[in-house]
Order: sequence, then structure tokens, then C-alpha cells
Amino acid sequence: MRPACASLDGDALRHNLRTVRAHTRARVMAIIKANGYGHGLVWVAKNLPDADGFGVASLEEGLELRAAGIANDICLLEGFFEPTEIPLILSERLTPVIHESHQVTALQRFPGAGPLDVWVKVDTGMHRLGFPVHELTKVMADLRAIPAIRQIGLLSHLASAEIPSSSSTSQQIGVFAGLESTTIRSLANSAAILQWQAAHGDWVRPGLMLYGASPIPGKMGADFGLKPVMTLRSRLISVRRRVRGDAIGYGGTYLCPEDMSVGVVGLGYGDGYPRELSSTVSVLIRGRLAPLIGRVSMDMLNVDLRSIPEAQIGDEVILWGQGLPVEDIAEAAGTIPYTLLCGLTQRLPRRDL
Ligand SMILES: *Cc1c(COP(=O)(O)O)cnc(C)c1O
Repeated sequence: MRPACASLDGDALRHNLRTVRAHTRARVMAIIKANGYGHGLVWVAKNLPDADGFGVASLEEGLELRAAGIANDICLLEGFFEPTEIPLILSERLTPVIHESHQVTALQRFPGAGPLDVWVKVDTGMHRLGFPVHELTKVMADLRAIPAIRQIGLLSHLASAEIPSSSSTSQQIGVFAGLESTTIRSLANSAAILQWQAAHGDWVRPGLMLYGASPIPGKMGADFGLKPVMTLRSRLISVRRRVRGDAIGYGGTYLCPEDMSVGVVGLGYGDGYPRELSSTVSVLIRGRLAPLIGRVSMDMLNVDLRSIPEAQIGDEVILWGQGLPVEDIAEAAGTIPYTLLCGLTQRLPRRDL
């Protein structure tokens, strides 16, 4: 069997949910869109039975959860894309976010029975989704007039919560607090849970921190007591002596500076490991760091084994996770942990630890 896999630690996931709760008294909508940030949509939901609800990006994801027997509240963060989705939203008890007038119109035209809970999304300054503040009174009145609708919550999203004391975040929090309404509210993503107490409201919406990574640049998940849920693993599938001047891999971009041992790891960009990474990053073998050398290929990558002379075929290799924070790998790749976790491909098996 090919040794590449993402091993998943359900205890770490539950620990991270408890860490969220230690920061706030709000209810927790665990965000599990994009296949549970790459961990597996159903796996994450089944391992978080204590979440007050889940947030996903689409009806398709919501239906997959219901089909797997998940009974918690499920919020569709972008609502529905077409009116034809409404009957299933009702019958499967899903909670759509309403952010455009066409969605209100579709609900007005839909004669079906409720009850239906919705969130109304307000644009408090991110300028992506949501009604402008001045339209809110009318939207709320229109929705309240629809008999099927039971509860209407207010939701908004922060553009820069990861930046400590950013004035735009203070402004967004102020705009949200100033909205005239007595209903439940939700504003905070992971970064706001960690550093914007005033944004917590009635429901918080943690994504990345549940998976153990830090949303805040320059900080590690461990700085907040979070534990990595995923460890990306494979094994050495070849170990060979190369001589000084040997060119390694596609394009021959790495020239061995001396006679040296080079290992081949059975994992590549076809699994979602970023091809952009070169010698700026290392993998973990026998608890020690082995730098990547040459180009990452689709199924394999090469590592410099000079600091681990006893390394041999079959040795386990950790590419991120336990002992090697995904935040560090993301920084070296010029990206953020979100894209690495979500970018793992379908062929990579996810295994319970
Ligand atoms: C993805 C998402 C979140 C979670 O964000 P994190 O930074 O991963 O915590 C929260 N709210 C909405 C609306 C989202 O789309």
C-alpha cells in the first residue's frame, strides 16, 4: 500500500473545541466547509458531537452530513444558489444564510411549510457578501412576513480579524453592535475568538483553530494551547548514495555539493503538497529535520539525508503536523495554513490515528 496519508487525531479535535469554549460563552458553529478543511467533512462532524452546530458552504455538503446521520444544526454559509434548493433545505432542517434579495424573493414565493430558521448576512465592511446596513430594516420586515420563517439571526464576517488591534475590525464590530435588532448574532471567526472578545456575540464560528492551526500570522496553534489534528505522513521509498555534482530530480535543479545520501519520500504535489517548496523547508525523519532538495514531483519528493545517516527505506516521514507545525510549512510556501489543509487531494487517504 502506498504509504502517503493524512492521519487524524479526534482527541486533538475535541481538545481544540474545548479550547474554543474556554475563550467564549457563545454557542459554537464549527466550520467544516471544504471537506472539513481537508480533514473529511463527515469525519470532523462525527468527531465533534458536542458542537452546537456546523457551518458548510453548500446544500450538497449539508445533505452529505444529514445522510451520514448528523442531527446538529447545519448552517449553509452562502445560503442557496437556486430556489430549487429550498424544499430540501426545509425537509432536511438546514439553516441558510440570506445575503441577496433574490433569496428573499424566492422564499416569499415558496408556499411550503416551515419552520425555517435563517441568518441574515449584513455587510459591516468586508464588502464581500451581505446586505448593506441601510437595507436591513426592510429585509428583516420582508422575512418576518414569511409564515414559514421562525428565527432570524444576524450574521456578519470580519475582513481582518487576524491583525491585532486593526481599526477596520474595531469599525466592523462597532457597525455590527449598532444594528437595531434584538435577535441572536454571530460575527467571530477563529482569529476574532482569539483576540476580539467584543465580537463574540451569541454564536462564534471557528474554522482553522479547530484543526489546531493559528489564524494569526507569527503565532503557532500551540501558543493558544491548540493541538494539530492532522499529521501528513509518508515513508522513505528509496535511499541512495549520490556523488558530488549529481543533479537531483526534474530539471536537475539541485546539485549534490558532496557525496551524500538522498532519500525519496512517497508523497508529492498530486497529494496536495505544494510544488513551490524547495530547500527552505524540511521534513521530519527519526525526529530530525531533513531538508527538501530539488523539485517536488507528483508522487514523490527528495530529501537530503546527510544529518540522518541511519535513515533507511520504510522510515516514517512527517511533512506537517505533530512536531512540524503546518504554519511553518505554509510560511515557507508563501501561503497560509488554510490552503495547505484544504488543498490535500482526494487520492490521499485520511486515517484515524
Ligand atoms: C470560513 C468561515 C469561517 C471560519 O473562519 P476561520 O478563519 O477558519 O475560523 C467563519 N465564518 C464564515 C462566514 C466563513 O466563511
